[in-house]
Amino acid sequence: MKLIPLIDTLLETREESRNDTRDYFHISEADKCPRAIFYKMKGYTGEKFKADMYRKLDNGDYVHKRIMSILVSLGIVVASEIKIPETNLFHGRADAIVTIDNELYVLEVKSMNRYAFDKLEAPDPAHLKQIQLYMHYFNINKGIILVENKDSQELKEFIVTRNDKILNEIFISFGILKEMTQANTIPPKPNFNREEKWRCDYCPYRKVCAQHD
Ligand code: SF4
Repeated sequence: MKLIPLIDTLLETREESRNDTRDYFHISEADKCPRAIFYKMKGYTGEKFKADMYRKLDNGDYVHKRIMSILVSLGIVVASEIKIPETNLFHGRADAIVTIDNELYVLEVKSMNRYAFDKLEAPDPAHLKQIQLYMHYFNINKGIILVENKDSQELKEFIVTRNDKILNEIFISFGILKEMTQANTIPPKPNFNREEKWRCDYCPYRKVCAQHD
């Protein structure tokens, strides 16, 4: 008996047993395809991830833990893993609220591979939408997106301010999606441009989505 199949089987069955049917959105979905969110919320069966993917996700969690322990040692963490007040639209948990020079910041810790990290000159749009929502729900006007290169452990940081235009767009689009989920209406397929084609390439709902064209 080899060890790797035992590890992989445990990871894959652990994740398969998770049921994610619900009537609210996760803040982490703020930049996701609305149709994919719909499928997930409604319990459609998607393609299963391989164990490697779960190991990558676990690695992301360890990046958070490692960086948070340093920030705690610096004495700047006001709260960590802090849930937003419960709402009908979004549920979510910010990585931390920190204070620097007597000013509060929402902090989001992210990690990415070296290719994405090297190209990163401004906040990733998905990270920006998420931190905007946290700033909104915690009523804090500033945020920091701290990104670690998974391969070299280099860091980049982006300081962002609350942007009501971005927030309005999110609330309008998710308000519409909420109505569609309540009516059980499958959202239209978004018109992804060439740079966004990867969303469908990596989507676990590709097969079911093709049946609804
Ligand atoms: S295949 Fe593309 S359009 Fe369809 S649900 Fe997935 S990401 Fe959305």
